[in-house]
Amino acid sequence: MVEPSVAPDHRIAEVASGLAVARVILRPRKARPFYGRHPWVLDTAVAQVDGSPADGDVVDLIAENGKFVARGVYNSQSRIRVRLMTWNPVQAVNDDLLRNRLRSAGSFRGSLGLDAPEGAARLVFSEADGLSGLIVDRYAQWLAIQVNALGMAMRLPALLPMLVELTHPRGIVVRTEKGVPQSEGIELRDGLLWGELPDGPVFVEEHGLRYGIDLAEGQKTGFYLDQRDNRRVAANYMHGRRVLDMFCYSGGFALNAAKHGSATDVHAYDSSAKALALAKANAELNGIANVKFEQGDAFDVLDRHAQRGHKFGGVILDPPKFARKRQAVEEAMRAYHRLNRLAVDLLEPGGILVSCSCSGHVTREDFMYMLVGVAQQTKRDIQILEQRGAAADHPVSATCLETEYLKCFICRVVS
Ligand code: SAH
Repeated sequence: MVEPSVAPDHRIAEVASGLAVARVILRPRKARPFYGRHPWVLDTAVAQVDGSPADGDVVDLIAENGKFVARGVYNSQSRIRVRLMTWNPVQAVNDDLLRNRLRSAGSFRGSLGLDAPEGAARLVFSEADGLSGLIVDRYAQWLAIQVNALGMAMRLPALLPMLVELTHPRGIVVRTEKGVPQSEGIELRDGLLWGELPDGPVFVEEHGLRYGIDLAEGQKTGFYLDQRDNRRVAANYMHGRRVLDMFCYSGGFALNAAKHGSATDVHAYDSSAKALALAKANAELNGIANVKFEQGDAFDVLDRHAQRGHKFGGVILDPPKFARKRQAVEEAMRAYHRLNRLAVDLLEPGGILVSCSCSGHVTREDFMYMLVGVAQQTKRDIQILEQRGAAADHPVSATCLETEYLKCFICRVVS
């Protein structure tokens, strides 16, 4: 079992009250984004701290003129010094607030029809659900959570029983994202937080396909739930086509194309042997035989197909995040351009390109202009048929656009 970081008793009492123990004063002319309900107060916006809050404490955010702006959770170890939780001066940031937000997030997923016992869904998506730094994914009877804020890590002793009451899981595991614990000062290791671990993979159903999820070692929290509907919709364009799925992970796009799209055959690649083992097991689980999985680097594989003069009716590109930082965007755009160009070169006239980016720093517009550049350089007419984002259980907060990160463009290369 992993022990969540637990504060001494008197501190728990303070945190539980949800009252501000200190005031964080903003620098002159820095209040606007927070009046605008953006939840991240960066260290550079802070002039001074009145009082001596401990990390994880509730603080009030005060404008230069002394007026209350919002209330949130303090962390001296993070560049995000305060994560704002409420703009209502009489609302406490306490267990009631957490419980209400968990409930509301959970019942919304239920209203989307994502509460089938064998199903999988993101129940909580951080800022988009008013719970900055907390992600909760449900895989059938297990929950996989990601804690990206120290304040949430400290509140795990309160959050876990709430999640248990709300979802009756058999077990709750925590998965950490690379670099996040260090940047927030969180001491959490991947592992079981509550209940029991599954004996092997957890099986879930999505759009009529079954998948085994490796809760301990899978990528992210085990599965890319955000692509649920894109996998299914992309398949609609694949009828009777030979399809390439270049970053297949556990096989989602490839299996949908084979089952729902009746693609003639699908060649799926991933650079990770572990991912391919999951994907092959999933193909077998669903009795799908016309998908061939192979290990390889997408750029090399596309080059190789081009050299051999192969052509395809559909290419799916769902690469990992190319831009981890804002400074890396330019380089990332070159990589997206190269990748998409290689893919377009392999498409026969009328071919379908499904091209995704999960880099939050790359905007939808950047991505679209990348496609413009590819059309110009390849001298192929490209039609954009659909511009999609993440599934509805990954909402975008209108006042925290950092929660929009996934782009999925479905295009047709006309001639
Ligand atoms: N489409 C998948 C998710 C893809 S995630 C789904 O719907 O589930 C991105 C995948 O790209 C990961 O599995 C990762 O192992 C793989 N990957 C990373 N770099 C790669 C490369 N250069 N070539 C091929 N695969 C790569």
